[in-house]
Amino acid sequence: MKIKISSKCSLKFLTEDKKRQLFEVMEEYSGVVNFFIDIFWLNDFTKKDLTKDVYNLSPTWLSARMKQCSAREALAMCQSNNQYRNKSNSELEVERLLDDNTVFSEKVKPHHHARRMILSSQIVSIEQGRNSFDIWVILSAIGEKIKISIPVRQHRHFNQFNSWKLSTSIVITRTYIQFSFEKEIEPKKQSGVIVGMDVGINHLIVTSDKEFLGSEIKSSIIDIKRKRQGSKAYIRAKKTLKYRINQVVKEYFNNKNLRLVVVEKLHNLKKSANGRSKEFRKTLSNWNYRELLEIIQKHTEINRVSFRSVNPYKTSQMCPVCNHTQRENRNGENFKCLECGFSEQADYVGSLNIRDRFLTGRYGACFKT
Ligand SMILES: [Zn+2]
Repeated sequence: MKIKISSKCSLKFLTEDKKRQLFEVMEEYSGVVNFFIDIFWLNDFTKKDLTKDVYNLSPTWLSARMKQCSAREALAMCQSNNQYRNKSNSELEVERLLDDNTVFSEKVKPHHHARRMILSSQIVSIEQGRNSFDIWVILSAIGEKIKISIPVRQHRHFNQFNSWKLSTSIVITRTYIQFSFEKEIEPKKQSGVIVGMDVGINHLIVTSDKEFLGSEIKSSIIDIKRKRQGSKAYIRAKKTLKYRINQVVKEYFNNKNLRLVVVEKLHNLKKSANGRSKEFRKTLSNWNYRELLEIIQKHTEINRVSFRSVNPYKTSQMCPVCNHTQRENRNGENFKCLECGFSEQADYVGSLNIRDRFLTGRYGACFKT
């Protein structure tokens, strides 16, 4: 199975001159698209009909390759508008009453508004960072010897797809470039162990199988706290921490046949919903938690393990035996239910609740064995 994901990067690093030039090209491109729409709209064109003779019909200074791009976009716009939109039930009812099925079937000729260009690899090349920018998108063979180099800064969302195949086709608008990434994904495993993971500071990860992972990481975090933020030593310590976390997670996935991993959703961490976020902020910042989740998620992907998250609301205060929920059930690393007396290590209790919250929830049904 192939999946495709797109990511947008800002055009704000483009100089005003280059921007003007880009918009000029966009206006011309748009004119050519509309020229082709006029032709394709009245005739039943398909991809096969897009020959050199057709491209050359348009009077423009754009290159043959650019004409090709605009013809393709024109055809796509015609084809998507040609399919009758889905009619609503009430529309169908009116048509039945009138015995006329053309009432709501009006077609509207599309129009290109010079707000975007879809450019193929014949125009676009992507180069890895010279100087301070991460990548350069170079548009060449546009026509009139125009060449536009666009500096782009990668951001967190973009960087997530480092291991994916970056397509050289792009969508370019007046404010951003949209890149697309592709990856071949194997289907998820249908058998194996289901675990909930509680992420914390004393133990990096505690699983619902009562495994305590990365308990030695705490010293690395304390080490970072001692360093001046932004200093070389600080950056080095952070790198070391990331490496160690990666090793812990990797080893765990290598040694265990997993089917599903359930974690707590990130966004609620800021609130003190689970009674330990203060501790979190002091020691393992939100950023670290996000990064840890990303590392876990990456390893689920590599190992074809399903990955889900649940609302963290009071997962550390609820008794997994009788469901009694009270803040006082938890005392540091110890959990003791004030209702039924069940007692266990507190993070382990959290991981049981995380796992069960998913399995007993709406989306957990298909994972029941
Ligand atoms: Zn209980």
